Amino acid sequence: MSMTINGKATFHNGYTKCNWTLKDRMRALLCVKAQPLLSRGFIHPVRPSTAVRWQAAPSKLFCSSPPDGNNTPPSMLRHLTSKIKATGPIPVAEYMREVLTNPVKGYYVRNNMLGPEGDFITSPEISQIFGELIGVWIISEWMGAGQPKQLQLVELGPGKGSLASDVLRVFSQLQSVLGGASVSLHLVEVSPALSLLQAQNLTGNRSQEADAEDDPVYRRGETDAGLPVSWYHRLDDVPAGFSVFVAHEFFDALPIHKFQRTEKGWREVLVDIDPEKPDTLRFVVAPAPTLASTSLVQADETRDHVEVSAEGGVLVQQLARRIIEDGGAALIIDYGHNGTKTDTFRGFKGHQLHDVLASPGSADLTADVDFNYLRRMAGGGVACLGPVTQRTFLKNMGIDTRMQVLLRNCSDPSTRKQLISSYNMLTNPAKMGERFHFFSLLHPSRLAKPQKPEGLKLEKKKSPAPLPVAGFTELKFA
Ligand code: SAH
Repeated sequence: MSMTINGKATFHNGYTKCNWTLKDRMRALLCVKAQPLLSRGFIHPVRPSTAVRWQAAPSKLFCSSPPDGNNTPPSMLRHLTSKIKATGPIPVAEYMREVLTNPVKGYYVRNNMLGPEGDFITSPEISQIFGELIGVWIISEWMGAGQPKQLQLVELGPGKGSLASDVLRVFSQLQSVLGGASVSLHLVEVSPALSLLQAQNLTGNRSQEADAEDDPVYRRGETDAGLPVSWYHRLDDVPAGFSVFVAHEFFDALPIHKFQRTEKGWREVLVDIDPEKPDTLRFVVAPAPTLASTSLVQADETRDHVEVSAEGGVLVQQLARRIIEDGGAALIIDYGHNGTKTDTFRGFKGHQLHDVLASPGSADLTADVDFNYLRRMAGGGVACLGPVTQRTFLKNMGIDTRMQVLLRNCSDPSTRKQLISSYNMLTNPAKMGERFHFFSLLHPSRLAKPQKPEGLKLEKKKSPAPLPVAGFTELKFA
């Protein structure tokens, strides 16, 4: 599953003419002004890449897990064992929340986990094309919504800030398309360490901590192009307004509850201390129903084991409400399923699978996203599209055209090799192409056929069909 890319490359920023069918598709999609995007080469180094964290999950449920051969328990383990001693076994969701986002010792709070030196690598880190195509998608949705005057780009869990940076580069290339829209960037990030890295990547040294205690913004800055950037701990704190929300490998990091079907009915899986090995954690099944097991498992559930991210459900409800009230769209990209998988909870450390209960806080914890559950939680007020596979989405967005242009502009053999290899990583069905899925929430008006205005009943012309939603539709034009 690993891919080595040596060296870095830069691309020329020249516009080259091309005559592909996809060019026509994008022209129709984005209007003529936006089209040159696909035939541009952006100046941006190809980032080194390594293993990804979507390997098949071996079932680890109910295994015990000794710490990594250390006599003194690490502080997160000590924190968890004290908690369990005080309150009894804790839900997996609480375990995951503590391990990942505890404000002092949490994995995300303390680490930079992305990249070859870290624990996993993500698509925006593999290739700039990924973020660029998402940038094109955002612009096409902004256009589909009638080009509102304000465009808030809101990213949940921005990692190193690479995706936002690639999107903003597209925005600046397509300045003439965005016209006078006032664009701002809003980042929801729990990790102080990562927010600093994002600030460095997106604003250089033009950001500073916000000092007012009641200010929901904890950092403010400005990009090279003068776009305002704000950092928040929670989505709730992001101001209202027309927004396009992007969440890449974010929902998989949200805490999940685990439930097991037993002879007595559904029971929640909890994390306990192994009575025989006091510095070791183990899974146990709650002896009686919990509030979560009675409220989160569907009455008609057919699986024997289910994982539910109630936090993910609440976030999707918030996204749906915002989109209904203020307009906009959300793009959720993650590995996941349609309510079919069972035990997907797993850990990653140094690009290897890692026992979820061993040395908590030292490894990433993740679970596949249940898109069926997200769709149900979004409710009927928003339109949901997808999930479609990453391969389908990127191909529909014109990744092949973009690749050809980049290759055409690049003569260095090792850079060409990197480009091809990262393209393969993103789109190959056996790699990320079919593991990752794109799921979208849209304002219902986005897909509705426009109503004929009153008084035009005699008009013979048909109302125009809404602009197709890029990425989810293979656009065909005569
Ligand atoms: N989107 C990035 C990073 C994915 S890692 C990429 O694809 O490269 C998950 C990101 O979400 C990290 O930035 C992490 O700090 C952040 N995160 C995790 N849980 C969070 C939470 N509950 N609230 C806000 N940010 C969170």
